[in-house]
Amino acid sequence: HPHLRGDYTFENFVIGENNSFAANAAIAIAKNPGTSYNPCLIYGGVGLGKTHLVQSIGNAAHMNFDAFKVVYVTSETFTNEFIQAIKDGKNAQFKSRYRNVDLLLIDDIQFLQGKDQTQEELFHTFNALYDANKQMVFTCDRPVSELKNLTARLQSRFERGLNVDLQPPNFETRYAILKRKIEEKGVDISDEVITLICNRITTNVRDLEAALTKLIAYADLLNKRVTLEIAEQQLKDVFNNTRTGNISIDVIQKVVADHYSLSHNDMRGKKRTKAIAFPRQIAMYIVREITEYSTTEVGLAFGGRDHTTVMHACQRVESRMKTDSALEPTIQQLIRSIKEYGT
Ligand code: ADP
Ligand code: MG
Repeated sequence: HPHLRGDYTFENFVIGENNSFAANAAIAIAKNPGTSYNPCLIYGGVGLGKTHLVQSIGNAAHMNFDAFKVVYVTSETFTNEFIQAIKDGKNAQFKSRYRNVDLLLIDDIQFLQGKDQTQEELFHTFNALYDANKQMVFTCDRPVSELKNLTARLQSRFERGLNVDLQPPNFETRYAILKRKIEEKGVDISDEVITLICNRITTNVRDLEAALTKLIAYADLLNKRVTLEIAEQQLKDVFNNTRTGNISIDVIQKVVADHYSLSHNDMRGKKRTKAIAFPRQIAMYIVREITEYSTTEVGLAFGGRDHTTVMHACQRVESRMKTDSALEPTIQQLIRSIKEYGT
């Protein structure tokens, strides 16, 4: 199938407790599209397998049903094609392309934010397919409720049906994913090196795979065995740059509090004086930048605040960075200190 990667299959997808709900929903959909779980929306952070899973649905449905029409697009491609169709006066072709499918897979719907006309078009596409009992599966990098600049009626369509999330994999699942890859390629990477990678890259399967790929290339090109020392050395930058979900909110609060001469409790307390409120917002912003905690979890860790408070804090910090050129370097320095904390 032209739009689908052949290796994004259920067979190649390792199921762990972090993704079993989503994976089983996807498998069920591929067996019985357009019935129980329509639409389905899979959400979760970057590199957790959203694209792999939706494409697996497409690949499996293609195998299961004759002449089954599958369309897979990212929401960006959908937007671009729509704009192009308007320019070329080919609206009708665009509509019929998307309304005559058995299975529509749209990846990364967060890119539809603020694109009102595209949202309008998708809304009508949705209704046409829904009424015809055609299956739709969407992915998003966050829960739909956290999207901004999305029309209420399209939001309600996305929230209809089943919304399931992908969580970061636990150690065993990370290990199983790498083991699978190593066996597939028939390469010799020791278990202690796999353990190192799995300990240091905790939240992003793409980073996990990239680390392994680098070591395999190293072994292959230099014809050397990858020792633990070599792995540490070669993956230094990968380890430093991965979104490290194992950094605790506590550590972030402590480092930021320390920098602004505040107490750890100030971060979680109710005081709203400027001297406390802004550092607290910076800490929330950093948590969102370098960990996978949801805004709800972050709010709870900051004294039981609402998730909208966290979203507001992040916006506040972002807009301050635009006017205060010293802020971004400060935040980068804080992030470095946080990552070095306790090492
Ligand atoms: P997302 O779309 O959520 O950013 P991807 O689907 O692109 O993530 O996944 C990133 C990489 O990790 C892909 O190469 C994918 O095959 C792999 N991957 C993610 N989860 C798993 C899993 N459970 N088992 C095997 N490979 C996985
Ligand atoms: Mg993706």
